[in-house]
Parts: sequence; C-alpha cells; structure tokens
Amino acid sequence: MTQEIKTDRSLTDLGEFGLIDLIARKVRPSSVVHIGIGDDAAAFHWQPHCLALATTDMLVEGVHFDLSFCDPFRLGRKALAVNLSDIAAMGGRPRSFLLSLAIPNEFSVDFINDFSSGLLEIAEEFGVTLIGGDTCVSRSGLVIGITLYGEQEEQKVTQRGTARPGESIFVTGYLGDSALGLKLLQRGLRQGEVIDRHLDPTPRVHEGLALAEAGLTCSMIDISDGLLSDLGHITGKSAMGARLHLDKIPLSREYSAHFGSESQERYLLALGGGEDYELLFTAPAYRKCEIEMLFRKLGTPVSEIGEITSVPGIRLFSAEGETLQGIAPGYDHFLSRKGNRS
Ligand code: ADP
Ligand code: MG
Repeated sequence: MTQEIKTDRSLTDLGEFGLIDLIARKVRPSSVVHIGIGDDAAAFHWQPHCLALATTDMLVEGVHFDLSFCDPFRLGRKALAVNLSDIAAMGGRPRSFLLSLAIPNEFSVDFINDFSSGLLEIAEEFGVTLIGGDTCVSRSGLVIGITLYGEQEEQKVTQRGTARPGESIFVTGYLGDSALGLKLLQRGLRQGEVIDRHLDPTPRVHEGLALAEAGLTCSMIDISDGLLSDLGHITGKSAMGARLHLDKIPLSREYSAHFGSESQERYLLALGGGEDYELLFTAPAYRKCEIEMLFRKLGTPVSEIGEITSVPGIRLFSAEGETLQGIAPGYDHFLSRKGNRS
C-alpha cells in the first residue's frame, strides 16, 4: 500500500469530481482498456472466441458490513473480492470493473482514500482494472456496488446445473472461519485468523481458472451463503442430490480450537455460515489425483467431502451414520430466519 497523506477533509470540500479524481488517479493503465475513467462510457477489449462474463454485487452498510469493526482499506478489498469470487466460480478470468458509490456527506476524504487504496490493491493482485462507475450522495449509509467483467472460452465456462450422479464433491480451503470471525467481532474481539478471513477473504480466482483450463470440473459455485445452501444450488439446478461426510469437512486450526473436537456445534458454522468465498465443485471421482496435484501446485488446500446422487436432497453422514441434527440454514436476505450475516 502506498502511504497516503492524511487530510481529514470532508467530502463537501472535495465535491463529486474531486472524489472521482481521487480514485481515478490511483488506477494503473491496462492494455485491456481502450477508454477508461473520464468519458461517457468505457471501452475495453475482449479476447477472441471468449464469452463475456458479468457479475454484480452490492454491499450495504448495516446489511453487509458494520463500520464499527470494518476498516475502510479491508472493506475496499472485500468489495472487489466478493465479485472476483463469482467470476472464479465460472472458471473465468476477471478483467475490468465498474464502481458505484453512494456516500453519506459526513464521510471523510481519508475514508474514501483508504477504501479506494484497498480496492485498487486487490485489483492489481488479480490483474483487473477500474474502468468507470458512478458517485452520488447517500442519505442513509454507505452503499458500494461493483460490476465485474471477465472472460472465458465457451467450453471452459463452469456452471451450477451440470453435476451428474457419482461425481465427487470438492471444496477449497476451510469452511466456517468467516462466520466464526463475524461472531467474534460482534463480541468485541478485533484480532485473529478467523477475523481476518471475515474481513479480508481470498477469492479463489487462480484455483477456478486452473480447474477450468484443465477441464477438471463438471459444476462449480462459490460459497457465499453457506455450504448447504450453495450445494443446494448445485443439486437443485442439476436435479440431483448429495451425500456429505461431516468428518471430511475441512476446518481450520483456529476454528477447531475454538469449538473443541467433541462439540456438537462444531459443524454448524461450517455448514450454514456464509462468506467463506471458497469454491465448491464436482468432478468425476477418477480425477481426484489430478485435482490434488493441481492444488498442491497452487498451494491451496482442497478436500473431497461427498458425492452427487440421483436421489434428491442433501444427506449428512457422520462417523456414526446418518445425521440431521441442528443444521443451520444458509443466509437469505428476505426470509425472517436469521443467518450469520450482520
Ligand atoms: P456521466 O454524467 O456521463 O454519467 P459522471 O460524471 O458520472 O459521467 O462520471 C465521469 C467519469 O467518472 C465516468 O468515466 C465515470 O465512469 C467515472 N466515475 C464516476 N464515479 C466513479 C467511481 N466511483 N469510480 C470510478 N469511476 C467513476
Ligand atoms: Mg454518471
């Protein structure tokens, strides 16, 4: 991160165009972009023979983030990370994005400075360029909207509805850390690995792309609402079911230490908590070795956690047999049941 000069100015001193300029001057030029920030629309190049991928996500203060424990730099990183994760789940290569901001008047210029530094840092990490956006004032909290474009050849794009019976189910990384991190933040803790995983998740762009390029996945989704909920999208869209083996669900050291190995609650957040932004994918069982080799090269953990069945529904198995107890549903913005998101 480049050291910013702290100004503590207000946005009313700076104005809309000053604010756009503050962000625009940090953007690095890119060969993908023909016309960037500063005209009526952006113009950018696609690779020949590729499909264009587009995804958009909104982050709303009080719904998706709480500024009492979320610093602007990491908020900027996360705002783009959640979009990068969607392109990763399609097996795509992210390229460029638009940023829409509705900002309360009383926010400081320093806040936006730090936010945009975080945003543009992760953009550079994943080779994507900011090409435009929109900026206006908000009367009720900060709203961040990002639209991210990516690309991939048609036959390599991975979808949700293409799982088949007998395929193995794999997941990257560890599950439940983000939901546990949020709980700890809400209890007043401010440091720790699971807290970092909540505030600054890693989008699995390299992993999604490598799987797609190797033709190793049959279906894929990113875990934003919780394992059961998102696996439900794969099985639902594929008109299939699944068996999940609880003892194979990957739990991080810090997560396991928090719950202890005997705790009944141990799997609740891993199955139902959201915002892990790991990839969940299916592949023929005989390709397991290739998948493990690929992930060893990438330096990312991968676990086989179950299999796709032709019988609908998701069945959970522990070492003692089938279990159905105490599983929290994933997050749904409009249902009255409360998930883990604040
Ligand atoms: P118009 O009035 O034609 O929509 P604007 O004055 O809103 O244009 O925006 C001027 C330029 O600044 C455009 O290129 C637009 O894409 C860009 N822009 C506006 N807001 C943002 C932002 N938050 N981040 C990046 N670029 C932005
Ligand atoms: Mg505009």
